[in-house]
Amino acid sequence: MNKPKCPGCDGSDEIRKVSGQRALCRSCSQKTRSVFQFCWGCQREWPRDASTTNVCKQPNCAIRAALLSVKQITDPQSSVRGCPFFRACPGCKALLTHNGTGCPNIICPQCHKEFCFRCLRAECYSNQYYYFINDFSDDDEDDDDDDDDDDDDEIETCEIVNNTDTIQCLGL
Ligand SMILES: [Zn+2]
Ligand SMILES: [Zn+2]
Ligand SMILES: [Zn+2]
Ligand SMILES: [Zn+2]
Repeated sequence: MNKPKCPGCDGSDEIRKVSGQRALCRSCSQKTRSVFQFCWGCQREWPRDASTTNVCKQPNCAIRAALLSVKQITDPQSSVRGCPFFRACPGCKALLTHNGTGCPNIICPQCHKEFCFRCLRAECYSNQYYYFINDFSDDDEDDDDDDDDDDDDEIETCEIVNNTDTIQCLGL
């Protein structure tokens, strides 16, 4: 079921669409003893002074709706299988998706920032694909460090994260 979450209770069992993007949560309405409405797309409380419209006028509604959508990449061949379908570029907030081929890293066509579609780190060395396409030979300038720590570098795991942090960090 492609149901959003109510921003009041974080649940989706008691919600239904009223009309347009306007949705209502029954349990939050009971709790607050008033009509608790929110936007089906961007999952924010519906402004009380906007009760006559069914179109959400809140900023970033469309981009939030895309990022919060439960739609995932399901192609079993894809290196980004299980990721949310959309990501926001950490550099310029552009809405991006992965074409499903090659390594999980993508480069934003707008600002050319590179990041891992799975864990959203700018430099994700843990994914195996990275080594095939990148040449590290230029990165070896700082080798006069006396520590023998180099071999201890823990490989950070590349875990698929959801878009909640992105939305917060980018202020969407
Ligand atoms: Zn609720
Ligand atoms: Zn909205
Ligand atoms: Zn960008
Ligand atoms: Zn990663």
